[in-house]
Amino acid sequence: MECNFAGCKEKALALTDFCWDHISDKDRYREHLIQALKQGKDLSGAPLKKISLKNIHIEKARLANADLSQADFTGSYFFDSSLEGADLIGAQLTHTDFAHCSLKGADLTKADLSNARLWNSDLTCANLTEANLSWPISGTPAFTGQSSGMPICIRGNRWARSTSPQT
Ligand SMILES: [Zn+2]
Repeated sequence: MECNFAGCKEKALALTDFCWDHISDKDRYREHLIQALKQGKDLSGAPLKKISLKNIHIEKARLANADLSQADFTGSYFFDSSLEGADLIGAQLTHTDFAHCSLKGADLTKADLSNARLWNSDLTCANLTEANLSWPISGTPAFTGQSSGMPICIRGNRWARSTSPQT
């Protein structure tokens, strides 16, 4: 569905008739969306391009295959959430924590993951092309791998679990 704003060709976001740029009361929409996520509403495949949800705390979010391109989740915390196959191209994920989340096959092209922490999160086949993975505090890894002890290795720009330790 297209945005209701005259002449706009962007897709309307989930739970509204407008695209992010044309939502007049963004605070109200933000609250509405956070409530929906907290209530476990299935937002798989939902169009949520450019949404700004900074410093939120979300558990069990169902955002598989959602369009979260250019979304801003700076400083947010996701626990036990599915973002499998989500479009996170160019997303702002600085200081964002993902604990026990699935980012399997997510597209994180050009996403900013600086200072992000991914505790026991699955990045199998996620696309990290040109993603910013910098972590300025020495000795603290951004990625803690799998709780099973299975290491994560990088193959090209993709992350995949490996059955044997990589050197
Ligand atoms: Zn619009």
